[in-house]
Amino acid sequence: MISYTKSGFPYIGSEVFETTQKVKYLRTPGMAMIGRPEVDISGLANFLEGFPEELGFLKYLDDSIKLSSAEELSKTAGQWCYLAFGPERTWNNNAEQYFENIKLHKHGSIMEHANFTMAIWGVSRSFTHEIVRHRAGCGFSQVSQRYVGEATLRFVERPEFVNNMALHTYFLDRIDACKNEYVWTTDYLLNKQKSGEEILSAERKTDLKKKIQQCSRAILPNETEAPIIITGNVRAWRNIIEQRVSEHAEIEIRRVVYNVFLCLQPFLPNILSDYKTVKLADGTPALASLHSKV
Ligand SMILES: Cc1cc2nc3c(=O)[nH]c(=O)nc-3n(C[C@H](O)[C@H](O)[C@H](O)COP(=O)(O)OP(=O)(O)OC[C@H]3O[C@@H](n4cnc5c(N)ncnc54)[C@H](O)[C@@H]3O)c2cc1C
Repeated sequence: MISYTKSGFPYIGSEVFETTQKVKYLRTPGMAMIGRPEVDISGLANFLEGFPEELGFLKYLDDSIKLSSAEELSKTAGQWCYLAFGPERTWNNNAEQYFENIKLHKHGSIMEHANFTMAIWGVSRSFTHEIVRHRAGCGFSQVSQRYVGEATLRFVERPEFVNNMALHTYFLDRIDACKNEYVWTTDYLLNKQKSGEEILSAERKTDLKKKIQQCSRAILPNETEAPIIITGNVRAWRNIIEQRVSEHAEIEIRRVVYNVFLCLQPFLPNILSDYKTVKLADGTPALASLHSKV
């Protein structure tokens, strides 16, 4: 299900379907990790060698076990707090225990240094409406319905509709009708405006397309696809996973964030090691952990 680019970035594809009227829709979330930390702590040598030699700080750079970049960054930040660079520190071979302790003591701020960026598509406007509520430690860039219109309009079919003939048929009819109405409204507004009969508020000509689309987007349903890029630091991602891959979360957001978790896991094997997959009554996966809000 997860594939990797040549440089080792995970992605999950999503098939694009079409109605008989050639309206495009997707059934599953697609996503690609497009950013992750790059770390090199060797530049700390000058800082470490400035302390008494008998403390052995310089050997901090010689740990033969290498962690993932995100974990190395977080662990270095954590050990920085106590100048824990000498031989008594927790070495990388005990990184799981180290991060377990961090989570236990709610010292999760050290995870804020590592950011991961996920581009996500095949998700609905309902999904983005919920995910952008996460403020702390996140950045969002979402496709604007004011600037992109008819040619790129796609929809997302809910999992509940996929295997139910009645719900599926209604969905297909609905998105065909929706696109027709959207196109009709856009053309209608354009023609009226061009003929001098102004319906839209006073505009410069260059703004016309934007003004038309911001008006006709009112027709679009929650089922409209809303591609989004999300950057989150690891502490923020943990909070999102905790809230959104729970049985209380809405099914679409749960599925999307569970897949984000699967993409992040190889890069955070110790930081995410406390999450256990549990099967919900409907057979879909959720995640459980003893460590809440680290
Ligand atoms: C199952 C479920 C149902 C929901 N239902 C509704 C609903 O009906 N209506 C609705 O409006 N929302 C609803 N939400 C959204 C919810 O209220 C939060 O807005 C959303 O989940 C973001 O989480 P967060 O507040 O932890 O924010 P995040 O931005 O993810 O912040 C992470 C943490 O940082 C701290 N933090 C962030 N900002 C502040 C701040 N300004 N002040 C102090 N501490 C801060 C908090 O400890 C917070 O938990 C629902 C969420 C879930 C998971």
